[in-house]
Amino acid sequence: MKKINGVIILLLLSVVTFAQQISEKRIREVMKEAYNKYKAPQGGANANYIPYLADVNSNLYGIAVCLPNGKVLELGDTKYEFGIESISKVFVLALAMQERGQKAIEDSIGVNATGMPFNSVLAIELEPARAVNPLVNAGAMATNSFVPAASGAEKWTKIDNIFAKFAGRRLPVIEKLYASETATNQHNRAIAWLLYSYGRFYDNVDVSVDLYTKACSYGTTARDLAVMAGTLANRGVNPLTREKVINSEYCPKILATMLTEGLYDETGDWIYHTGIPGKSGVGGGVIAVSPGKMAIAVFSPPLDKSGNSIKAMYTIKYMVDKLGLNLLEAK
Ligand code: GLN
Repeated sequence: MKKINGVIILLLLSVVTFAQQISEKRIREVMKEAYNKYKAPQGGANANYIPYLADVNSNLYGIAVCLPNGKVLELGDTKYEFGIESISKVFVLALAMQERGQKAIEDSIGVNATGMPFNSVLAIELEPARAVNPLVNAGAMATNSFVPAASGAEKWTKIDNIFAKFAGRRLPVIEKLYASETATNQHNRAIAWLLYSYGRFYDNVDVSVDLYTKACSYGTTARDLAVMAGTLANRGVNPLTREKVINSEYCPKILATMLTEGLYDETGDWIYHTGIPGKSGVGGGVIAVSPGKMAIAVFSPPLDKSGNSIKAMYTIKYMVDKLGLNLLEAK
């Protein structure tokens, strides 16, 4: 009798576990549906304030999903290397948190939402403590300055190493993009100096802005971004390499900054529609994380007025809805 009870319990457990997992087949179906629904142009335009980005083919479109077992499902242009741009902010924050601890980030940078555009100066001026979320330009440059290192070269090595661990491969910097951004980043330099004037910058301003710009110029594919985001979905362990990249307790904190600021002044709308943390970059990438379940990365260059990829947002919203990934839904 005991034995039979045990078998029944085991059977029940496996049914429950199975019910919680979304099958790979179903994910592939939903990816295909989304791809077909949105593959035609959906409006918007490539970023043009960084000349390199304006010239990227607007029709490129790729979807990648990374599962905790290390499988990566891909559809469309998932091998094209595009500028990671602001999605890099998430992973520099992870490095800074890993090296300095969570409390230091809260105190020295800030974690609240700004509700403002990504390059807002007003966001700094209106906040008495000059606290800025690490996922807007001001906070991201300050976060970069907050990574402890004896020199710019040493700091870059730390950034390069942790990005390689997140992606499961060493990422290239797109030199043409880096040059293009460096030639046009006067506004960012002004923001960094403003923070410096308020005592909220923690290293040489020119070096930090340069390293921030360089990290924004990493070339990543949709597949890379799915694996990087998949590491955040998987308690800080890279699902491909099984390497532990950051402490698990930092993952929900990093994801919280994505929840409040990941799509800038459009984050409220994003959360309302999806209920999961996301992060965009003006290169056309968007990542979304469903903790413990999967990460989705979509690439399509045309952006809306907030600087978020229109097709990528539509695609992720569709997939979240069909796969039941909204965190605010009682399961
Ligand atoms: N490198 C870009 C900038 O600093 C990143 C902006 C973005 O992706 N939203 O403006």
